[in-house]
Amino acid sequence: MPSPYLNFVGGRWLPARTGKTFPNVNPANTDDVVGEFQASGPEDVAAAFAAAEGAQPAWAALPAPRRGEYLFKAAEILEGQLASAAGDMTREEGKTLPEATGEVKRAINILRYFGGEGSRLFSYQIPSERDNVFCFTIRKPLGVVALITPWNFPSAIPAWKLAPALVAGNTVVIKPASLAPLSALRLIEALERAGLPAGVVNYVTGAGGTVGDAILEHPSLKAISFTGSCAVGDRLYDKATRRRLRVQLEMGGKNPTIVLADANLDFAAATLVNAAFFSTGQKCTACSRAIVERSVYEPLVEKLIARTRALKVGNGAEAGIDIGPAVDRSQLDTDLEYIGIAQREGAQLLCGGTRLTGGAYDKGFFIEPTLFGGVTPAMRIAQEEVFGPVLALMVAEDFEDAMRLANGVRFGLSAALISNDLSRVHQFVNRIEAGLITVNLPTAGVEYQLPFGGTKESSFGMREQGPLALDFYTESRTVYLKHTV
Ligand code: NAP
Repeated sequence: MPSPYLNFVGGRWLPARTGKTFPNVNPANTDDVVGEFQASGPEDVAAAFAAAEGAQPAWAALPAPRRGEYLFKAAEILEGQLASAAGDMTREEGKTLPEATGEVKRAINILRYFGGEGSRLFSYQIPSERDNVFCFTIRKPLGVVALITPWNFPSAIPAWKLAPALVAGNTVVIKPASLAPLSALRLIEALERAGLPAGVVNYVTGAGGTVGDAILEHPSLKAISFTGSCAVGDRLYDKATRRRLRVQLEMGGKNPTIVLADANLDFAAATLVNAAFFSTGQKCTACSRAIVERSVYEPLVEKLIARTRALKVGNGAEAGIDIGPAVDRSQLDTDLEYIGIAQREGAQLLCGGTRLTGGAYDKGFFIEPTLFGGVTPAMRIAQEEVFGPVLALMVAEDFEDAMRLANGVRFGLSAALISNDLSRVHQFVNRIEAGLITVNLPTAGVEYQLPFGGTKESSFGMREQGPLALDFYTESRTVYLKHTV
């Protein structure tokens, strides 16, 4: 489909009833408009809900393995378009082509994984204490569910919400982020080409406030799954819980990596650079705090500076680029603002810290990967999510001090330890306040077949991905069946 890109409602591609569109611009080259998208209003959301409601009974009645077959087909179709889908993603979001290719592959794997769940959809069979009574649970879909997704994983996050929602028998209204709606559209196109019945998936683009409010207020809404910022998540939580809707929120992080004195420092530096700077630090699981035992702090800093300076920043569509641009001017401004705050609060700028300008850089939102040393817990850079390529280095006196620093934030998404000390590895796993825990691996880079989600203020509700994802999209019913009377 060429631009202007349309909404997908009731099995048809339609313009918004507002008659308005908005542009999707390449953050590596603002002269390049990826396309115009529909600036939808409440009437478009109402039409999407009407279509989803109409389609839901027949979709729920279809045996789950057959619902799964649509996901298998969509996976095959998307696989056939891997190169173009990845190119679209790099163009609209800015991540490098290898990163975008990896993400589309992940979306394909998610579709296949949940296609397979159609043949499982496990429930419980639990023995009764009474004679001739057979007890079991069944899973029922919720009805119409809404999905609101962010720009930073514009294919994988829509896929990891859509696939379990659909295979469980729900119908869907999805609103992708306005900064990167094309990657989600490619998924919807694949589902359409797979023959998904009309109305089962409805895709509506437009401003978060307008479209989001209309979604949250719709009387047919049964559940909402959201990934994005804490500010928007809090707002959705208030509205959804007031209506006793099921709600799932995945939000921000301030993810630590603890480096203990026994660590191999070359390995630690490589792991930190990967976790902090790849995807321009715009991963919810990106590492933004390195907490390093004092005895290895200085040598690690030296290695980190060398590796960070060697990174190539540029247009992610070009070969050899390690880091693409910030997603837009607002995110770039946020990155630069936090860099200024960190300096004013006394952190030591070790490298980076400025916007890249000159030549092709002038057309995009490019920023140097940035390291701060001597960061203390009271500094804002140690507590608040930047969502850019900025790593704060903190000194820990010992393991206990490192754990205290690591847990001393309001977030709890992901956390890593670099050490081969078996006892401390176990203590870390047991005591770290994070939903995703890695040892001798980056904080980022989780796999689709395992549950995903955080703790503390990073997340609310049930887990996404892996076998637990179906719990959010289904309601359990309990059956007591006396078979002989
Ligand atoms: P965001 O500004 O909260 O936007 C997320 C989605 O919410 C977008 O589709 C946005 O629409 C929509 N939205 C905005 N205002 C809304 C409202 N009032 N009601 C309903 N929906 C509304 O977040 P973002 O900037 O796209 O993403 C970055 C954030 O996501 C970071 O904080 C990051 O940590 C977090 N994140 C978390 C995870 C995780 O799994 N924990 C994963 C990825 C990202 P518009 O685009 O139209 O504004």
